Amino acid sequence: MTSFDYDLFVIGGGSGGVRAARIAASEHGARVAMAEEYRMGGTCVIRGCVPKKLMVFAAGHGAGIDEAAAYGWQVEKGRFDWGAFRHRLDAELNRLESIYTRNAESAGVTILHQRAVVSGAHEVTLADGRRLSARHILIATGGTPFIPEPWRGAGAMTSNEIFLMDRLPANVLVLGGGFIACEMAGILQGLGSKVTLMYRGRQILRGFDADLQEHVAAALVQQGIGLEVNTDLMALERLPDGSFRARDNQGRERVFAAVLFATGRVPNTAGLGLEAAGVALGENGAVKVDGYSQTNIPSIFAVGDVTDRIQLTPVAIREGHAFADTVFGGTPVMVDHSNVASAVFTRPEAGSVGLTEDEARKDHAVEVYMASFRPMQTAFIGADTKALFKLVVDRDSRRVLGCHIVAPGAGELIQIAAVAVKMGATKDDFDRTVAVHPTMSEELVLLRKPVR
Ligand code: NDP
Repeated sequence: MTSFDYDLFVIGGGSGGVRAARIAASEHGARVAMAEEYRMGGTCVIRGCVPKKLMVFAAGHGAGIDEAAAYGWQVEKGRFDWGAFRHRLDAELNRLESIYTRNAESAGVTILHQRAVVSGAHEVTLADGRRLSARHILIATGGTPFIPEPWRGAGAMTSNEIFLMDRLPANVLVLGGGFIACEMAGILQGLGSKVTLMYRGRQILRGFDADLQEHVAAALVQQGIGLEVNTDLMALERLPDGSFRARDNQGRERVFAAVLFATGRVPNTAGLGLEAAGVALGENGAVKVDGYSQTNIPSIFAVGDVTDRIQLTPVAIREGHAFADTVFGGTPVMVDHSNVASAVFTRPEAGSVGLTEDEARKDHAVEVYMASFRPMQTAFIGADTKALFKLVVDRDSRRVLGCHIVAPGAGELIQIAAVAVKMGATKDDFDRTVAVHPTMSEELVLLRKPVR
């Protein structure tokens, strides 16, 4: 029998890779090594969800001060001290990184702090030249920000650099209309930058429910963000003082202190040796896998963003865990990718689970229940921002096919609503539930008449 250096070699120490390594080692007794070329924790912990959410909190405090003043508190709003925040953020990320490292090591995983590439069906080659063999290889290298070709090398930022800024720019051009563009536009504006959000399409947050899109877009505009849809960047030039001159297809030419590309993320497979090893890749470099995260090379698996299924941390964690249980635990587990909830951390937040109204109409006779109103907390001080609670219901089975919320705390609310949708709750189940008063989310159980 062939003997391998390891039972499992994981490339990438992010959410999916770490979960797979830990479960394989600690629960199933596998001998596991993991290579990470940058920092343990991956995109989510080091330059994604975690630092982003901390920035959301920081920006929210600014809005909170204004609100407090309107409620009668005698407060004075100073400037946001980015340096002080950065200092604390760096310390927090260091702390989290060491927890990730410690948890993996205490599970028995050997961590190699260097790049590894695949050099065979059972072999990886490390940056220091060592070759190691493994019965199974797991690709968990995540994704990387995508900048459209003409603008590469222009010196603009992506989400990788945003957390490393020396100072908060006075004005920023954010390109894109997806998760990162909308979140970062809200954060930067909330911290004191003047933000222009430039999106090529008709409406931001493509793929989300149309009413949710509209509510978020209106909220961004109310915050003072310059939202420019149907707009394309035509020229981008770095000026000697480090700022950027941008020209768009509307003929405007403006100077911005910083430019952020939030134009999507692509699977991180370049130079990883996968093609040479015979691993089939998709058009955008995504590793092609089956329901068990197995590639066409039986010993090689892949989980998380690198597979371009659903680019969300909790999904990667599920896939990593399922992989470990399938391959090392003797229990084949397929991840169910249906009805995965997600949240966009704008102000207010947006949360969504299940089908959008447009998606539902393709296969169902649909009833739409919806409430759009000014929440008590901010209506009291005259703010116009509107909350949205929307249920998309199958008229025949009464099953709730989709739930879409725009409201403060929608990220928290949609997590709970997702349980009901996942369980197959009907509109009558929602109706039978007594409201919690006075809350915003009581609307979810008080939607009496369909609006269409
Ligand atoms: P998204 O896919 O959400 O959005 C990309 C945006 O860039 C779209 O608006 C797209 O436009 C636009 N775009 C793409 N190519 C071009 C181009 N060539 N020129 C101009 N615009 C372009 O990607 P993000 O980078 O925002 O985020 C990546 C993923 O990370 C998300 O899909 C999400 O899964 C995950 N994420 C999740 C978060 C959360 O859960 N809160 C937060 C951040 C990220 P168009 O719509 O026209 O294609």
